[in-house]
This record gives sequence, C-alpha cells and structure tokens, in this order.
Amino acid sequence: MSEGINAAAIFGENVFNETVMKERLPRGAYQRLKETIENGSELDPTIADIVAHAMQEWAVENGATHYTHWFQPLTGVTAEKHDSFIGSPDAAGRVIMDLSGKELIKGETDGSSFPSGGLRATFEARGYTAWDCTSPAFLKKDATGVTLCIPTAFCSYRGEALDKKTPLLRSMEAIDREAKRIFHLFGNFAVNRVVPCVGAEQEYFLVDREKYLQRKDLIYTGRTLFGAMPPKGQEMDDHYYGVIRERIGAYMKELNEELWKMGVTAKTQHNEVAPAQHELAPIYAKANLAVDHNQIVMETMKKVAGRRGLACLLHEKPFQGVNGSGKHNNWSLLSDTGVNMLDPGVTPHENIQFLLVLACILKAVDVHADLLRQSAAVPGNDYRLGAQEAPPAIISVFVGEQLEDVIDQLCSTGLATHSKAGEVLRTGVTTLPDFVKDATDRNRTSPFAFTGNKFEFRMVGSSDSVSSANVVLNTIVAEAFKEAADQLEQAENFDTAVHDLIKKLLIGHRRIVFNGNGYTEAWVEEAGRRGLPNLKCMVESIPSLTTEKSIRLFEDFGVYTRAELEARSEIEYEAYAKSVNIEARTMIDMAGKQLIPAVIKYTTMLAQSINAVENACPNADVSVQTELLLETSELLSEMRTALRALEEKTADCAAIADGKERALAYYREIVPAMGSLREPADRLEMIVDKEFWPIPSYGDMIFEV
Ligand code: ADP
Ligand code: MG
Repeated sequence: MSEGINAAAIFGENVFNETVMKERLPRGAYQRLKETIENGSELDPTIADIVAHAMQEWAVENGATHYTHWFQPLTGVTAEKHDSFIGSPDAAGRVIMDLSGKELIKGETDGSSFPSGGLRATFEARGYTAWDCTSPAFLKKDATGVTLCIPTAFCSYRGEALDKKTPLLRSMEAIDREAKRIFHLFGNFAVNRVVPCVGAEQEYFLVDREKYLQRKDLIYTGRTLFGAMPPKGQEMDDHYYGVIRERIGAYMKELNEELWKMGVTAKTQHNEVAPAQHELAPIYAKANLAVDHNQIVMETMKKVAGRRGLACLLHEKPFQGVNGSGKHNNWSLLSDTGVNMLDPGVTPHENIQFLLVLACILKAVDVHADLLRQSAAVPGNDYRLGAQEAPPAIISVFVGEQLEDVIDQLCSTGLATHSKAGEVLRTGVTTLPDFVKDATDRNRTSPFAFTGNKFEFRMVGSSDSVSSANVVLNTIVAEAFKEAADQLEQAENFDTAVHDLIKKLLIGHRRIVFNGNGYTEAWVEEAGRRGLPNLKCMVESIPSLTTEKSIRLFEDFGVYTRAELEARSEIEYEAYAKSVNIEARTMIDMAGKQLIPAVIKYTTMLAQSINAVENACPNADVSVQTELLLETSELLSEMRTALRALEEKTADCAAIADGKERALAYYREIVPAMGSLREPADRLEMIVDKEFWPIPSYGDMIFEV
C-alpha cells in the first residue's frame, strides 16, 4: 500500500516564495522587492545584497551547497552552471558560505557554446545572465545534492537576447501597455496591470527503461526510426482516460510530489489516446512563470522516470502510426482588478469590451498566422501537425456556436441583439443531476480554439518550450490592441466608433474563423480558397520570422530586433539540419550494425534449415522456407540499397555550406531517404523470427510498461 501525501503541507517547500521572503527579509527590502515583482518596476540594486543573503541562508538551511543561474538558451532546454556557496578559506582554514547581491542579480558565463546565430562572435564569448525576480528561486534536489536555482534571462555583451525568456518578458510588457489602453477606453481606470496567463498541458510517453536502452534511436533522437505496427494499436480507444496502472500511478505520485515541492501546481493527470501516453496539466499562472514551470515539469518527468526504471519520451512523434504528443497552450489576459479580458460573460453580445478584444484577436491571428504557426515549429512537430491527430499546419480560429452567432449578427445587421444560451442536458437518470450544457461545444481539431474564457493554442510540440508561442501571441495581440486604441482614443463618439470598428474587424478577418473539422482534406482545400497560409513543415515556416511584416511588428514593440530575428532564423535552420542529420546517422548505424546483420543471420539459418531438411528427408516440402528465404533476401537487398543511398545523400547534404540550403536539402532529400530505408526494414521485422530481431518492438514498448 502506498502512503498518502499531505499536498498542502509540502506545496512550495522548496521555493523562496512570498511567505519565506516575508519571514526572512527586512520589511523595507521585502516591500521594494514585492513592488518590482508586482508592478514590474525596476529592481533597486541596493536591496540585492540583502535578498541574496536571505536567499543563501534559506537555501543552506535546506541543505543547498550550490547555486545556479538557471536559464533557457535557444537549445530549447534549460541550462545551468553550478557554483558552490563556499568562499575562500580564512587563515584558520574555515570557509563561509556566501552569495553576494552581485552574484544574485548578474552572472557571467562563457556563452560561446550556446546557439547565438552569429549574434556573438567568439572573441566576444561572454554571455550574461540576469535575475528575473518575477519568477521565484527554488531548490532542486537530486543526485547532485541540493541546488538553489535562480531563474535568469540570458543576454549577450551588447544586450541581445540569447534566450527564450528575455523576449517573453519584453512581450509581456508590450501586451500590458496596450491592454491597459483598452480597459481605459471603457472607463476601467482602476486597471494598472494586465498579465497574460498560461496553462500548458503536457503530453508524454513512458516506456520501460531497459527496453529504451536497447534502442539507439530513442537514445539519440527521442523517437523510433524503425518499428512495425503491433497487432493492436489505439483503435479500441481503451487507453484514453483509462484506469491508471500501478506502475504509472506510482510514477505520477512521485512526480506530483516533486513538482508540488517546487511550487508547480500539477493539477490534472490522465492517460492519453495512445497506449503508454499520458498528460499532466498545471493550474495556469502568469506567462513567464508558466514557461519556467513547464521546463521544470519536463525535466522532472525525465528525472523521476529514470529513478523508477522508466524513460519519459517528450518527442512529438515517438512512434510512427501512433498518436503523437503536443502541448496545449491555454492563454488569457488578466487584469490586476481580477477581470479576464477573454471572459464573455453570460451574454457576450452585450459585452462590448469582450467583443472588441475578440475582434482584435481574430485580426492578430489572421494577419500573423504565419508567425503563430512558426512559433510551434520544431523538427518533431513535422510528423504531427496535419497528420489527422493534431491540428493541421493551417492556422484557423474556433469560436464556437454562441460566438459565431454573435459574429454573424454583427457582420450582417451590424447589431447583435441576443446570445444563444446553454441548454439543459437531460441525463435521463433521476438520481443524476441535469447539466447546463456549455454554450460552446469543444472542437479538438482546431489549432486555436476559444474554450469559454481563454484561447487554447494546440500546435505547440510536446518537447518545445511554450515561450515562443506566447511571445508571438502577446505581441500580435498587443499590435491589434494598439491599432484599435490609436483609433478609438481619437473618436468623437466612442460608442459609434467602437461598434463600427468591431464590425469592420470581424468582416475583415472572418476568413480565419472555422468551426468545422480541421482534420479533413476538404478544409485544406477550403483554407486554400480563403488564402490562409499552409506552412507544412518547419523549414517552410522559418522565413516567416524575417519578413518585413514580422520585423516591423517585433521592432515596434521592442520584442526582437532585426538582428535577433535573423539570428533566430539561422539557429532554427541549423537546429533542423542537425536534428535530421543525427536521425539519418542513427538509422545508418542501426541498419548497418544491428538490423542487416540480424537479417543475414536469419537468412543463414533458413538456408541451413532448408539443407538440413532436404538431407534428412529428400521428399519433404521446403517451399515455405524457400519462399521466406527469397522474400527476406529481396527485402534485405532493398534495405542495403536504401542504406547506401541514405549514406551518400547525408554526406552530400552535410557538405552544403549555406544554413538555409542545407536545412532544405535535409528536408527534401534526407527525410524521404530515411522513409525508403525504414520501409523494407519494417516489413522485415514482420517476417524475421522475433528471436533474431535485435531491438524491442512497438508492442514490447507501448503495451508492456
Ligand atoms: P480544458 O478542459 O478546456 O482543457 P481545463 O480546465 O482542463 O480546460 O484547463 C486546461 C488548462 O488551461 C489548465 O492548465 C488550466 O489551468 C488552464 N486554464 C484554465 N483557465 C485558464 C485561463 N483563464 N487562462 C489560462 N489558462 C487557463
Ligand atoms: Mg485542453
């Protein structure tokens, strides 16, 4: 039997949070820090020493020996360099533990090994990390001991952002500024701050660690590059929300416990569509904290899996033919007066502020659909988006029946007079309560869906940081708000002007609204007629970063400079090419050293057995063995040819000097060549005696966890 957990008691015990700060900081310092955290005012450097000292004392009392500036470079995962608190020994050989204010707020790291896209020449290798005091410091407890993690932003010597956090913080300032103007237009002058809130639902797979270690593809690339479908897949739909097995349950329990201690509000957990697939969702938080927390979630998922003899796969498509994993990014805008700008209320047609916000968001998404799609581009997502299991690569917005009806009224008559209400859903069982149906049904096929009081962006890949998606969302909506506010602040008759603007925006951007099934071919054609972009793969989406439209947008709102965007685009091409190159080389390695030798052994065994049978009994029928030998040998030769072709093409592509050309070549040449090698190999897996097959099968991995 397992022990229960007192979740409330352990929650946040490893976080330098409000309570700890209040307890340990002198009143004045606490107040000043709190102002910075809440109002975004600049941090007073004179209090840094005081805070650093309190933080270090607290950390050491909790067993910490090291601290680290925890940051999010453009690799997509977090980075940390540990320094111990130990100072130089005194004359008596004793050391004191210390963290100075300077060490707290600013770190210097040799950043030359992190991707910078040419922003930092090697002679200027220094990168700086700066404390983001709006995200609390926390203790990480693992095999290294206890480490104080100080969330930081990472910049070059000249202040260019080299990470995923700096632009996010900049975009949060932009949306705060513009969203406040919208509130003020409607007379809500009490609003001083608007923050984007994010809840990131994380999907993941768990497989047995022993089996994982037998698959080089999983180890090197995070996904399987070979593998025939098992006799049973997900067709029975018996895994989704199914009873959680003991081994997985124990994993989830330990994961929750670790996350709660670090202040992550792990809230829901369930089995997902695919066998061995699960999901965890936290309670939403302000965007930068949610992004940090999602990184902690991913890291802790892997760590706990390792401890429990499991491996956690965060790849978007670990198994071909089986549903992949994504990360739904729930997004809304909350004022310091407690108003969610995306809450329509019961009668949306009367909520003019909401209608303006909605119209602005539709415009933002329509105008910058390419950027939003780009923000979800990682190599693994190419295997998921548009594959009938995840949203297509085409951006559209689902608004639901109720809002669509309001939009219809506004577009046709210019006046919205009523809102469809939720009906009562009769359960037909007297002991069960009747439910009031939500006025809006769900649509799982839409990439960007309104879900009652938030938008859910469903394209983000499971392995990716949610930062880029939120940078784009915050900035494009800030732009639409700004354009609306610029107009409306000048209007002589506000009521007429806002009404006209909403109507104009809705009519102008109606094409982005789609409430139907996004998984169908018919939608792809319809979207084409509407002129919506369909950027099918990562490499095709990267140019969106550096269009004049994009550069103007990001520069206007101080989120990215042109140089930063160009650097990011360069890094993305490079990341894509590198990732496919590793996959190709892993396939070459596995095919050459494991699969082909195994098939040869099997054919040899077949040939020997044919001889043996014929010798023992010349009249025996060996046609089955002979047929198998022929079929196997034919596939073997096909595999060998495909392997050669992949080897040659990979060498050719790797030699291309230009980053963009190289990435395109990997997409156009190597991806299909990998498919050609996989095809005969997967067929062989179905024929060759299981005893001979050198790697665990799909069935072994996803049904036997
Ligand atoms: P759904 O059933 O629509 O997926 P859930 O209530 O399960 O919604 O929430 C999914 C995620 O959305 C959770 O992480 C939740 O905290 C988050 N969420 C809920 N409300 C909001 C909001 N107003 N803003 C941002 N995220 C939200
Ligand atoms: Mg959801």
